[in-house]
Formats: sequence, C-alpha cells, structure tokens
Amino acid sequence: DTVTVSVGLGERAYDILIGAGLLARAGAEIAARLPGARAAVVTDENVAALHLRPLQEGLGAAGIGSTAITLPPGERSKSFGALEETVDGILGARLERRDFVIALGGGVVGDLAGFAAGIVRRGMNFVQVPTSLLAQVDSSVGGKTGINTGHGKNLIGVFHQPRLVLADTAALGTLPEREFRAGYAEVAKYGLIDRPDFFAWLENNWRDVFSGGTACTEAIARSCRAKAEIVERDERESGERALLNLGHTFGHALEAATGYDSARLVHGEGVAIGMVLAHRFSARVNLASPDDADRVEAHLRAVGLPTRLEHIPGALPDAEALLSYIAQDKKVSRGALTFILTHGIGRSFIAEDVPASEVLAFLRECQ
Ligand code: NAD
Ligand code: ZN
Repeated sequence: DTVTVSVGLGERAYDILIGAGLLARAGAEIAARLPGARAAVVTDENVAALHLRPLQEGLGAAGIGSTAITLPPGERSKSFGALEETVDGILGARLERRDFVIALGGGVVGDLAGFAAGIVRRGMNFVQVPTSLLAQVDSSVGGKTGINTGHGKNLIGVFHQPRLVLADTAALGTLPEREFRAGYAEVAKYGLIDRPDFFAWLENNWRDVFSGGTACTEAIARSCRAKAEIVERDERESGERALLNLGHTFGHALEAATGYDSARLVHGEGVAIGMVLAHRFSARVNLASPDDADRVEAHLRAVGLPTRLEHIPGALPDAEALLSYIAQDKKVSRGALTFILTHGIGRSFIAEDVPASEVLAFLRECQ
C-alpha cells in the first residue's frame, strides 16, 4: 500500500512515495522514471549499517551502479569538511549531471547531499530516501539544502528540488524512539500551522502513529501534503513558506545554546519546546488564549517530548544570551525580530517587528 503525494512545481514536479519496502524497490522506482545510470549514495554510519545494502542491491538489480559516501552521524556533518568529502566522492566516482546523488538517511544527510547535488556540475539529479520520521515528513520535501557555520544553522545552501522522494515506512522500525518522537514534533507542526483538524486527529490517534502501520503512513502522507501545498505556493520563501518555521526561531536558538549536542537536544525536541514557547508568547501578548498553549503542551508532553526550557539537561545560558542566539538566526530583518505567532491552534501567522524587549521579558519568565 504505497501512497503517492505529488509536489506540483511545473517542470520540476516530483512524487513522494510513502510505504513499507520502498528501500529495496528504490532502484526500480528510480529506473522507471529517470535516465541516469550511476549513483552516489550519501549516508551516515548508523544508517549505512542498517539500510545501505538493500538499497544498493536494488539499485544494482535495476542496472544502476553505485558508490557509497558514508559520514559520521549527527548535526556536525552539516559542515564544510563533510561537504568537501561528499563533493570529492561524487566527482571521484565520475558521475555525470543526469546520474544521481541519493541521500539515504535523516535530515542531516538529506541537507548535505542535496547541497552537494545542487552545486556539483551546477546541479545533478537528486533523489531523497529519507529514513528518519523528521526527514520523511519535512526535510526531504521542498528543496531546501545546506550546511551550518559558526554563525548559525543552515546559513549556506541552495534550493535544489529532488526528482523523487522514497519514504520507506519500514525503515522507521530501526529508528531510536527518541528520534521518532523528535520527528513527530514536525508532524504536529502542520496541524498547528493551519490544520486544526489534523491536530485533533493526532491527539486521538498518536498511539497508532507511534506503533507504525496505516496510521503512521497516513500521518506522513498528510504531513507531506501539507508541506507540498505551502511549497507549491511559495517555493523560495518570499512569504508564507516561513510558516514552516513555527517553533524554529526559539528551537534553533536552543540548539545553538546547547552546542548542537544531541545528548542534550535534537532538532525536533528544540522545535517542540519552540512551538510551546510560540503559543505561550502569543498568549502573553494577547493574541491567543492560554488554553491553546496548554493544549499544545499537553499533547507534546503526552507523546514524551520536552516542552519547557527546564526539560533540557544541563545549564542553559541566561535570557540575554538566548536572545542573542535568536538575533543571530536568519529570520531577522533590520533589527526587528520575525516570529511565527498564532491566534490559536491551526491559526499561525508571520509576525514581523516583534519587539526584542518583549521576547527578552518572556524568556526571563520562562527560566
Ligand atoms: P539526523 O539526520 O541526524 O538523524 C537522526 C539520527 O537518526 C541520526 O543519528 C541518524 O543516524 C539516525 N537514523 C536516521 N534514520 C535511521 C533509521 N532508519 N534507523 C536508525 N537510525 C536512523 O537528524 P534528523 O532529525 O533526521 O534531521 C535533522 C536535520 O534536518 C537538521 O539538520 C535540520 O536542520 C534539518 N531539516 C531540514 C529541513 C529542510 O527543509 N531541508 C527541514 C527540517 C529539518
Ligand atoms: Zn524543523
């Protein structure tokens, strides 16, 4: 039972296939649609040990020769060093433009491999085979690629859409529970942005989503459709695509403040706390009811996600320092802070010119 979600981007339109067993069928699905003959599979050590072989065997059976480029797992691989290694691997394998760069892994691998695919030979064919829930519902869709620098996350990159996304739900079976929960934060995000019915559905069905099966496939497909619709309307983030950053301004600041140390905080956990903070802040400035913030927190807490600063292990910097991380984030223009705020569940909006003093006072209250 494979579900297909199409991303309508004119000549660059592509399909997202969601279902169990797609990893082994990836070679056939790619060969049926695209002409290249060779592939560089970019992956990380964790995913390579579990899922590289069936992918490469399926590619081989479909007549696609492949080399693997395997990086250390974790956010630190979204670096210039890892980019250089990836680009060298692609060029060393003598791939041509129409050959494929395949990202096999989570969002880290997808962002890095997509960036490499976007710049080698001014743009190579790119296929996403996301293996984390976060990558299946979010990072593999929409064409944003890039790496981090000391100045902040995702500050260097290109838009480069994949030609195909193959989300094998069976691969999620080996994902650590904590990573599944972190990805779930992005699933809930789509409900909170503009789909209150989806959020209510998740409140009722999250246990089934966590146990895999059809509810999980449904949640992934609904998430991909939600993201595709926003990307179709605003591919380059000149406007409403910024709504996808709900929870991310606070979340990125928390990731930076914890040194991108996954033992303390992973991306989706930062987003979970960030979404609760966005709802709390909205209530504080009388845009939304505090009941909605309570409802969001109760749900994220029920699934086991952190929702408050105090849930992060270890000491956090003070409110001033957190604000400076927020100001470093790229969603800042002319000194004013841009946040995704909300009028309530499923009623998020882009708020420009949020006074930094209000945010600072709020962060002091949170600590
Ligand atoms: P990740 O890629 O680090 O993967 C999380 C962990 O799970 C890693 O240790 C990985 O090795 C492991 N893993 C992945 N799949 C597995 C599997 N099937 N079985 C066992 N282990 C598995 O992190 P992530 O949460 O997938 O992605 C986070 C990244 O995505 C961040 O860098 C974030 O900025 C980026 N992101 C990008 C976009 C975008 O639009 N491009 C959107 C959201 C997030
Ligand atoms: Zn995210």
